[in-house]
Amino acid sequence: NQQLQRANEILAQLSITDGLTRLHNHRFFQDQLAREIKRCERTGEPLGMILADIDDFKQLNDRYGHATGDEVLVRIAGLMNEAIRESDILARYGGEEFAILTTGTDLEGAVTLAEKIRMRVSNETWLCAEEQETLGVTVSMGIAVYRGERKAFFRDADRALYEAKGQGKNCVVVDAESQRIAQARGLLAGDRGSSF
Ligand code: GH3
Ligand code: MG
Ligand code: MG
Repeated sequence: NQQLQRANEILAQLSITDGLTRLHNHRFFQDQLAREIKRCERTGEPLGMILADIDDFKQLNDRYGHATGDEVLVRIAGLMNEAIRESDILARYGGEEFAILTTGTDLEGAVTLAEKIRMRVSNETWLCAEEQETLGVTVSMGIAVYRGERKAFFRDADRALYEAKGQGKNCVVVDAESQRIAQARGLLAGDRGSSF
């Protein structure tokens, strides 16, 4: 019976884990998103989302092979995992896309985290073992804050990510509406809402 319980626990863990990077997967992220939305609606705490997408990853795969691409994914996952707080929720959202829910921090906190990750990735030395060549790897990121609607939350972050790509990649863009809301909240609360 104990063995069966253990096996079930392992299965449950596997079902929410991404096999390549060992990060949480899309399903886990969706579950946590629902939970965190409920929580922030109850407590009034801010909730942020960072969507990160590796730049020109198709080209990297084409040039250096899929195995190198996989290695890059694993290392970026590790960098992100080291950069976040325990209260943040990180997942591999899709092929070369990652999502982070920032809980209990304002928009400024989410921007700081995104910038930290962006810089760590671009400063990392990516040495391709076979080619004896240094590759440049960068990520683009979009950020939004929750403003009462789950779909809009994701759409805002995705739009900001799209803008980051349009602005030449390797950058962080905050969704305009999220920024406006965060600023208004900051001003009402009397803190540094106008500083970004
Ligand atoms: P952009 O800068 O606009 O994001 O361009 P991109 O090339 O990164 O984006 P695109 O969506 O055109 O290509 C994504 C690539 O990611 C294509 C796909 O082969 C690769 N990819 C997705 N999942 C994996 C994976 O698990 N391993 C590897 N090696 N590559 C993957
Ligand atoms: Mg992509
Ligand atoms: Mg990409």
